[in-house]
Amino acid sequence: MAYDYDPENIFAKILRGEIPNDTVLETDHCLAFRDIAPQAPDHVLIIPKGAYVSFDHFAAEAGDAEIVDYTRTIGKVCKMLGVDLDAGVDGYRMIANTGKNGVQDVPHLHVHILAGKFLGRMLPNI
Ligand code: 5GP
Repeated sequence: MAYDYDPENIFAKILRGEIPNDTVLETDHCLAFRDIAPQAPDHVLIIPKGAYVSFDHFAAEAGDAEIVDYTRTIGKVCKMLGVDLDAGVDGYRMIANTGKNGVQDVPHLHVHILAGKFLGRMLPNI
């Protein structure tokens, strides 16, 4: 079965410049921007520019340069927000909701970085 990417999803529209966003960082292969409905004092979404629906899709089909850039961009955003553990602060949560069971609302790969407050446990034992 092939991955099914919907080019009309809201993040595809953001990437095409059809919808504005509050950009934190843009690179050759990625865009990081603030979530429109923040769930923590810092809530940033990081997306690849390529048409990938999920992390498994990205891992299977993205090129090495895209994968390296995405990984480094996530790290750079944590540094820019000042929440990386190297800064000696209290950390953050990184989430990638995926598909129906993961309750993914926007079908374009995105990682949430949430920080700036104690977030509690996501699930009873995780
Ligand atoms: P998901 O449930 O797919 O993991 O999360 C989608 C996220 O996208 C939600 O946190 C939601 O607030 C955010 N979002 C939805 N539409 C927009 C938008 O137009 N702009 C921005 N910046 N964030 C959005």
